[in-house]
Amino acid sequence: YGDFNQKIDYVFKIVLIGDSAVGKSQLLARFARNEFNLESKATIGVEFQTKTLAIDNKTVKAQIWDTAGQERYRAVTSAYYRGAVGAMLVYDMTKRQSFDHMARWLEELRGHADKNIVIMLIGNKCDLGTLRAVPTEDAQEFAERENLYFMETSALEKTNVESAFMTILTEIYQIIN
Ligand code: GDP
Ligand code: MG
Repeated sequence: YGDFNQKIDYVFKIVLIGDSAVGKSQLLARFARNEFNLESKATIGVEFQTKTLAIDNKTVKAQIWDTAGQERYRAVTSAYYRGAVGAMLVYDMTKRQSFDHMARWLEELRGHADKNIVIMLIGNKCDLGTLRAVPTEDAQEFAERENLYFMETSALEKTNVESAFMTILTEIYQIIN
C-alpha cells in the first residue's frame, strides 16, 4: 500500500467543496499531478486523488476528495464528509455569488463533519485580477469571524496552490501530534 512502497505514517482525508466551476478540480489536478486544463468538464466518477509527502520526517498521504458534480446545495452526501480531517471551501474571486454561498457551504460542512476539522477558505482564480468581484478584505473578515485559514490561489498560474495544501496538512498534523 502506498506510492513506491513507502511506509505511510498518516492518511489525511481532505474534502473540496464550493459551487460548480470555481476551480476545485483544477486545484486538485495542480496539486496532485501538476496539471491544469482550461476546458475542464464537470467531474464525473473520480472520487479522490492522493499525494504522498513528508511533514516533520513523517510520510503523509493526502487523500483529497472532489465533489463529483454534486455541487448543488444539500446534494453532497454525508459519506463525502465522513472521516475528513480537513476541508477547502473554494470560491471564484471573479464570481461574487460563489463567495456569498460560502456561508451555506460552511453550514453544510459543520453539520456533517467532525467538529475538529481544519477548514481553509480559498479564493481561486487570482490570475484574473482585473475581474475581481470579491475584495481580499471581505474574505479575510469572513475567515476571521468563522475561524478559517484563508488564501487566494490560482490553479492556472500555480499561485499558492502548494502552499494552501501544505498549510492545511501541516495544521492537521500538528493537531494530532
Ligand atoms: P469545479 O467545477 O469547481 O471543479 O471547477 P473546474 O476545476 O472544473 O474549473 C472550472 C473552470 O475554471 C475551468 O474552465 C478551469 O479551467 C477554470 N479554472 C480553474 N481554476 C482556474 C484558475 O486558477 N484561473 C483561471 N483563469 N481559470 C481557472
Ligand atoms: Mg469539478
